[in-house]
Amino acid sequence: MTKSWRGHLVAVLAMLTLAVSCEETGSHPSVVLFCLDGADPDIVARLRAEGKLPHLDRLMRTGAWSPMESVAAKRVLRPHPRLGLWSPIIWASIATGVTPEKHGILDFLLPLPGTGFSWIGNAHGAPRAEAILPEIEGRAPFTLRLRLHSYRPTGSQEIELRVNGQSVGALTVGEKWEIVSAPLSEALLRPGQNRLEILFAKQSRPSDEGPSHDDRALAGALSLIEVEDATGNTVVSMDPVSQRFDLVEGFYPPEADLVEAQSSHLRSRPLWSLLGATGHPVGIVGYWSTWPALEVNGFLVSSHMGLRGRRQHISTELTWPPELADDVAQLQPTDAEIEASIAELYPPTCSPASERSLEVFKQVLWQDELYFRSAKRLFPTLPHGFFTVYFESIDVAGHTFLPFRDGAALPANCPESVRHAVEAVYQRVDTWIGDLLETLPAEASVLVVSDHGMVTEGSSGYHARYGIFVANGSAFRRGAPFRGASALDVAPTILHRFGEAIPLEMDGKTLVQAFDPDWLQQHPPRYQDIPLAIVGEPAPLTEDSEEVIDRLRSIGYIQ
Ligand SMILES: [Zn+2]
Repeated sequence: MTKSWRGHLVAVLAMLTLAVSCEETGSHPSVVLFCLDGADPDIVARLRAEGKLPHLDRLMRTGAWSPMESVAAKRVLRPHPRLGLWSPIIWASIATGVTPEKHGILDFLLPLPGTGFSWIGNAHGAPRAEAILPEIEGRAPFTLRLRLHSYRPTGSQEIELRVNGQSVGALTVGEKWEIVSAPLSEALLRPGQNRLEILFAKQSRPSDEGPSHDDRALAGALSLIEVEDATGNTVVSMDPVSQRFDLVEGFYPPEADLVEAQSSHLRSRPLWSLLGATGHPVGIVGYWSTWPALEVNGFLVSSHMGLRGRRQHISTELTWPPELADDVAQLQPTDAEIEASIAELYPPTCSPASERSLEVFKQVLWQDELYFRSAKRLFPTLPHGFFTVYFESIDVAGHTFLPFRDGAALPANCPESVRHAVEAVYQRVDTWIGDLLETLPAEASVLVVSDHGMVTEGSSGYHARYGIFVANGSAFRRGAPFRGASALDVAPTILHRFGEAIPLEMDGKTLVQAFDPDWLQQHPPRYQDIPLAIVGEPAPLTEDSEEVIDRLRSIGYIQ
């Protein structure tokens, strides 16, 4: 390397550092992500054409945008009646860049951690169960661990464990949950996948034991399969509910106590965890499945600060830092304020949907108003980094009122204005976006995404396969519609915008077609082997969990 060349390089590096620090020291987030549940590309296009969404229209006219394909999960505990395009699943893919099977949020309701299990038994032969373990990586030797118990009427019994056809241990299992373990030598493991067999000695039927119509043959129950490596790391962790597709035979459908999806169910690191770990401040308001609020490098107003926590009377771990919850609670709109918003849509004499649907709509308006006020309060406190806020009212307005927009007959006492309810909700969210962006300088990036679209089906609106993706700011192309965005691409695209490496494990890609070609040339995507999986059994986290009971006990609430 010649001297002058080296000098030039130093100057370029200094300029780059300066550019980064200028961008990073202004008092505003560098990247803002607006999450609009259920915003539909066709409805957005029509409202833009009518001049009704001035802020979103500006972002799209001067930015890059695409329809965004949604993602669906395989069935878990209930059959999906239609496409399975469900918000908690999709928002988790948006936050993590991985498929639902990897991030673990596979439904609205998920097993309370630690409560899922499957009965093992075989009505047509000897009691034997078979499961597929993934490839086992880590430092040998390994230890296989199972949490199980014997079906009580059969008493304690002998079981044999086999891996890839070879016995790894014969053990006695009692009638109470216990953890049994067996050594796993590296020699019998295979690349790709490994077959685990559990052979029981005895089984019996509840109908043989007493007055029961249950004639399943039951040998025992299983709640956890784990593999630990020589360093004590858990390298495989399977529960029979979320991994039911790996239970090959001998297992009955899994059972569990179900709770709304929460942060402890997330099995892959979200964007804000990755950004926080590389030093970027983050601010998250209202994002799905973020309660209990885990520590972040900034602030987090969890999903249960809104209607979910209100419904379940949850008052703990609502925010990070925890003391933020009191400030946010001050921002709650009053019932009178929400009634006034609804009165702008339809008069009290009109009842355009079932009482239950209208109550949900009212609660969602309350939640969105709270999230907007929280965002407005907290947005300017983020010196740089990443900020996101989630709004749900466009989705719920679509479910409730879209058929009226599309010509459905109006119920008695309802004025024509009900036909404009969906549009009014879109406009309100657009106004919020404009309000929040007022103070944001032009070099910051603004993204707007929706998890799915919405179409009229019969008497209600239903989720459609495409949502929207919009990216605006100096790094992105101007006035450039494109195709091919997927919900999986949001997280890698935002990491790339920050100049961070994209984890190789992510299923999505950075949307290079959205970036300004010059910017892209200076910031080619980088990939790195960054582990995303959150392994190990999550701690049970609910109001009645032992941890919470302990805390309540410690402050004298209970004896
Ligand atoms: Zn919906």
